[in-house]
Amino acid sequence: MIFQPPPPPPDAPSWLALGPMTLMIGITFLMQAVIILTSSFVIREYRGVKVFFLSTLFLSAGFFLILFHPQFGFAIGITSNIAIYTGNMLMYLAICQFREKPPQRWILYGLIPLGYFALLLTFFLRIPINVITELANIPISAASAYTLIRSNNKTFRLSAYLTAFPLFLYALVSLIKMITALVSPAEIAPGQTATNSLSILIVYILSFLWVGGFIFMISQRLQFHLNELAMNDMLTRVRNRRAMHELLDYELRRAERRVKDFSVILLDVDHFKRVNDTYGHDTGDEVLTWMAANLQLSARVEDTVARWGGEEFLILLPATALEEAVDVAERMRAHIESATFAFKDVTLKITFSAGVSCSKEHPDVDELCKIADQALYLAKHTRNRVVSQEQITE
Ligand code: GH3
Ligand code: MG
Ligand code: MG
Repeated sequence: MIFQPPPPPPDAPSWLALGPMTLMIGITFLMQAVIILTSSFVIREYRGVKVFFLSTLFLSAGFFLILFHPQFGFAIGITSNIAIYTGNMLMYLAICQFREKPPQRWILYGLIPLGYFALLLTFFLRIPINVITELANIPISAASAYTLIRSNNKTFRLSAYLTAFPLFLYALVSLIKMITALVSPAEIAPGQTATNSLSILIVYILSFLWVGGFIFMISQRLQFHLNELAMNDMLTRVRNRRAMHELLDYELRRAERRVKDFSVILLDVDHFKRVNDTYGHDTGDEVLTWMAANLQLSARVEDTVARWGGEEFLILLPATALEEAVDVAERMRAHIESATFAFKDVTLKITFSAGVSCSKEHPDVDELCKIADQALYLAKHTRNRVVSQEQITE
């Protein structure tokens, strides 16, 4: 039998030429690195952005080095693989930092050093490196993707999923390359093969997606925090007046579509000025924070507590009729009356007065609040009391 050498792997078509594509991916990573670096200067609140920049920079360097591989050979090949591996490793660390959780110990002290060790071993032993390179990259990219999916951080959940997806695919591409390297080494040996070109094209597309995803993560998180700042009261951490206005408008539109009538409780702390005058403004502030927390505790999950003004709170009760709302208000009043406020060496009994109105009779936000205010005014005659809109004309 005549020995026949295996046929050479298919050459990449000219439009998939390896050189220009490697150059493009190197340049793209570099430009992406610049964008991330710029955002890291502007957005200082979040950790991990600078490390993500370094990751992209290393990936860029890794791909640029591939360009020099044909001239400089094996050493450059290994250096390029180490740079790419470092890029992937830094990406994992950046993602951990961004989500404010430490990296897994077994990854940090086990997997990562093992990857470097294997890559360096290929250098000294001068053995074919493709299998090892892919083997090192698969778990670290998969770990990045998995960490993102497990983030479970509502401030950037959607964008984390969008970033995880290309990273999973990246791990998958590495896996396919590794299997190819085992089955048909020539296909993936350094050089102009269709498999090499195709895998670089795929990584080119995926890298765009994960860098875009990371930038989306930053902006989604920023958006969430800005929203929190705009909608919450700084002192008491409950919704502020602006947020409550939006909620009231929304509930009213729902009520107009005959979904359900809703009610509001407007309450005002009794003799609050005395607290300030006797114990100081700081204690007054503490009373307001304590009050907000207790109101929220005794409210139902669907209700929203907001700070309406100085020591006034407004509580929105969706899908609640007047009688039911009066019951809720009465329960809250009793709860606050029986509780004791304690701060430093001050202990105090706090009470509030409240007015309750319902959208059924007053289907207008301003009118609804005005009626609740009138009921509150009536309640202030005796204090520590809840007055319903029905009692106003009495
Ligand atoms: P009433 O029982 O009639 O409601 O009497 P009151 O003393 O609670 O009402 P008044 O309107 O006379 O006083 C409210 C006080 O609340 C006056 C204001 O200085 C104080 N206040 C408003 N906002 C804040 C705040 O953010 N922190 C503190 N500590 N005090 C505040
Ligand atoms: Mg008051
Ligand atoms: Mg007041």
